Amino acid sequence: MFEALQDGLTSAFKTLRGKGKLSEANMRDGLKLVEKSLLEADVSFPVVRQFMADVTEQAVGEKVLKSLDPSQQVVGLIYQELVNMMGPVDNSLHLLGKDQVTVLMMCGLQGSGKTTTCGKLGRMLKESGRKPLMVAADLQRPAAIDQLHVIGEQLGIEVFSDRGQKDPVTVCNEALKQAKKLGADVVILDTAGRLHVDDELMGQLQRIDRQCNPHQAYLVVDGMTGQDAVNSAKAFNEALELDGVILTKMDGDARGGAAISVKHVTGVPIKFIGTGEHLDALEEFHADRMAGRILG
Ligand code: GDP
Repeated sequence: MFEALQDGLTSAFKTLRGKGKLSEANMRDGLKLVEKSLLEADVSFPVVRQFMADVTEQAVGEKVLKSLDPSQQVVGLIYQELVNMMGPVDNSLHLLGKDQVTVLMMCGLQGSGKTTTCGKLGRMLKESGRKPLMVAADLQRPAAIDQLHVIGEQLGIEVFSDRGQKDPVTVCNEALKQAKKLGADVVILDTAGRLHVDDELMGQLQRIDRQCNPHQAYLVVDGMTGQDAVNSAKAFNEALELDGVILTKMDGDARGGAAISVKHVTGVPIKFIGTGEHLDALEEFHADRMAGRILG
């Protein structure tokens, strides 16, 4: 893991060997490399600055251990701090018992992978013995309704839609009634997205949130988008008090900086990562694996 950074640090920290304690001065070159690596991983700048300050404060004054290469010692501290910043990890969907209907509200910008992720969660729930119902509440994009039906057919999961309806709140409420009739125990609401955060979208989501009372509200964020991911997570969280974030497109070459930035800025746990277009490409989020990936 992170061999390139480790190599750079080994040479930057060579002079630390035999020094009694770590200090800001004797770690400077090494920490610059760490900072560069975090920025390359697309961790947002204010988060990098805060992280570097925390790590420096923790490291300064530490004894240089005789048993370890000094670079390993500092990398260990950095790795642990990254893991801490992305925790505590909470992968649970906090489902109610099967005799009740748990409502999961999915939101996110257009193209983030929201509809696909509804399918991925539906599949995962079905595999675990649940009976999900997916709801086409994205009335913004007519194709989104078709897309969800196609996914539902592929997975053998019921989809509720009402093409004549203009109000997504009505669609969601009707869907909840339908869930009871069908004996579904989890309802997944696929809400509308936009290209950018705007007041109309947020107003619509807040109405669904208030009137349909979902148990969990999850934001789907494109993990490749770096700073934009942080900005949209902040805006959605302010409007909806999110319960979790799902980072998609982590199969690409994104180094995963969005994970730490989103968690640090919103405090909302990352629940899952999307690792491909297929409906089985959803993994639980692991802070330790992501820390390794962020370090490169
Ligand atoms: P929505 O507009 O947010 O509902 O986004 P879609 O679900 O339609 O997804 C947009 C595009 O991203 C589609 O081409 C999906 O196949 C793709 N996509 C979604 N999740 C992932 C993922 O985890 N990895 C990759 N590589 N592509 C994804």
